[in-house]
Amino acid sequence: MCHQHSWKVFVLRLGHRPERDKRITTHVFLVARAFGAHGAFYSGQKDEKVEASIRKVVESWGGPFSIEYVEEWVKKIREWKKMGGEAIHLTMYGLPLNEVIQEIRKSKKDKLIIVGGEKVPRLVYDLADWNVSITLQPHSEVGALSVFLHELYMGEELKREFENARIKVIPQARGKKVIRLF
Ligand code: SAM
Repeated sequence: MCHQHSWKVFVLRLGHRPERDKRITTHVFLVARAFGAHGAFYSGQKDEKVEASIRKVVESWGGPFSIEYVEEWVKKIREWKKMGGEAIHLTMYGLPLNEVIQEIRKSKKDKLIIVGGEKVPRLVYDLADWNVSITLQPHSEVGALSVFLHELYMGEELKREFENARIKVIPQARGKKVIRLF
């Protein structure tokens, strides 16, 4: 399980706009949770609906996974680093994942994985300890985050059991089986 690492992983999603990003931000958080992150922050506009839908998932499917709106993302990144953590910005312009992932995994620092929205301010590139690309092609924050977490955990996240889950899937070759745990 992911708990064997000394570090924790949180995701910071920048520039959320409720009208346009509702689904994609929700997907960033669902992927973050499912692939082993401990929680997420987001900036832009506060969105109670997105927060509620993630909390509902955690209530049913387990955690731990926290979600928190941050008004000032610059402050959040600076505080994270001041507390001894490192900031990792996923961007198509960064250093290739394969070249840096071992060093990132080896470092004992808690990791703040930053993904952008429409336009990412230059300051993010400067504040980040690492700017990491997952291919040099434009794609998506959801795709970038999943591949990054999968490589960071070396696939261990696929076997993760969630604490305090009320429901759980029993894998089937065909069909669906879900059990209630309490
Ligand atoms: N055009 C925007 C900019 O200013 O960089 C990025 C838009 S992209 C739809 C949204 C986010 O997906 C990016 O901020 C980045 O976090 C992630 N992303 C997209 N392609 C990526 C890649 N090849 N490698 C890493 N992250 C990527």
